[in-house]
Amino acid sequence: MTLSTNAAGEPQGRRRTPVPSPQYVSTGLDVWTMMNQVAASVNAVNLGQGYMSYPPKEFIKRAAQEALVENTHNQYAPPRGRPGLLEQVGIHFANRLARPIDASSELSIHAGANEALLSVFTAFLEHGKGQEVILMEPAFDQYTPNIIMSGGKPVYVPLRVQCADKDPAKDVISSHDWKLDMEELEAAINENTRIIVVNTPHNPVGKVFSREELEQIGAIAARHNLLILADEVYEHLTYGVEHISIATLPGMWERTVTVGSAGKMFGVTGWRVGWSVGPAELIQPTLSAHTRIVFTSNTPLQEGVASAFKLAKENDFLNIQRQEYERRRNRLMAIFDDVGLPYVVPDGAYYLLVNAAAIKIPNDYKFPDFIEERGANFKLVYFFIKEFGVSGIPPTEFYSEPHKHLANDYIRFAFCKTDEGLNEA
Ligand code: PMP
Repeated sequence: MTLSTNAAGEPQGRRRTPVPSPQYVSTGLDVWTMMNQVAASVNAVNLGQGYMSYPPKEFIKRAAQEALVENTHNQYAPPRGRPGLLEQVGIHFANRLARPIDASSELSIHAGANEALLSVFTAFLEHGKGQEVILMEPAFDQYTPNIIMSGGKPVYVPLRVQCADKDPAKDVISSHDWKLDMEELEAAINENTRIIVVNTPHNPVGKVFSREELEQIGAIAARHNLLILADEVYEHLTYGVEHISIATLPGMWERTVTVGSAGKMFGVTGWRVGWSVGPAELIQPTLSAHTRIVFTSNTPLQEGVASAFKLAKENDFLNIQRQEYERRRNRLMAIFDDVGLPYVVPDGAYYLLVNAAAIKIPNDYKFPDFIEERGANFKLVYFFIKEFGVSGIPPTEFYSEPHKHLANDYIRFAFCKTDEGLNEA
């Protein structure tokens, strides 16, 4: 069929298709699909994406199975969440934040921490006003699109490696050597700034922010009257250092929404249950946004998580899980000690940043176009997967364009994987 065209030369008739927003027109493969495909092409051990490659504990799976059998657990939950889960999350945060938590006003349940983050951005950013959100790079890859969807503008302040006595290309360094320059942070703030996102323990660096660092960030937030969005989804995964919630520091509860994840806490990332906690004045708009985004999170798995919280205490689950992760972390670090590649020792979360600057890629090595066009870091990761059979993720994906070079030598590996997987690696 020949199509007629209009005066502007655009095709008319049946083959015209509706025009999507440019933000959602994919220009290529997303990094996860891309690297999963590269990994599959050589049957690589997949240490790329941060999902658990082992099953959840039996008592956690049983909690979900039992929840589904109850008829009333198969209908809408209240948008704020099922009372039983609100109660358990309330008890958890009363301990963690050392203050009473009113579950009827200071908490909301979400469809994973992802949706809690989107709800906060939606609730506190206005479209068309040029409002800004400060992100520390490397930054979890959902923040930027979620801020833009909410009408805001991300502004990036990179963590910078500061270890005068060591060379990160040759020596193992600490995740604490990745520092936030407080002057750089304050210089990035202007009258349009509304929110600072603080992710501790940090994905992908594994940095656990110290009390002093959090106090300094808090003081800056207070000076400029900013909301702090505390992404603490890895709160229970620290190795030998204390996780401090910024909301516990003097004067910080009033300006902080803390976000958490049942997926990370109980090893069930597919359940999509998360939460936000903060003062009623901050949770009310967050809950309103959540109600318009998803209305409510799924009922049976909220019940499953409520039971998991109770059973976890009886089983000392969180401590045991922490020890298991620490063992996996140490195993993966030992593998890179063996091959002589230095890394950043993570104090928290479940990622290892390996510095692969020592790997020299032959000049005539052939890369497919979809890798070639993504720059040096993607080439390094591609080469590593193809030649060594272990897959990771290019951490430049967690940076804005001007700062990508800071991560060019690094590969991110996830250690939420089975012992067999790690041994095979
Ligand atoms: N924040 C960070 C820093 C994360 O790494 C993740 C998951 N990878 C999330 C939030 C999202 O958590 P959830 O799966 O509960 O949506």
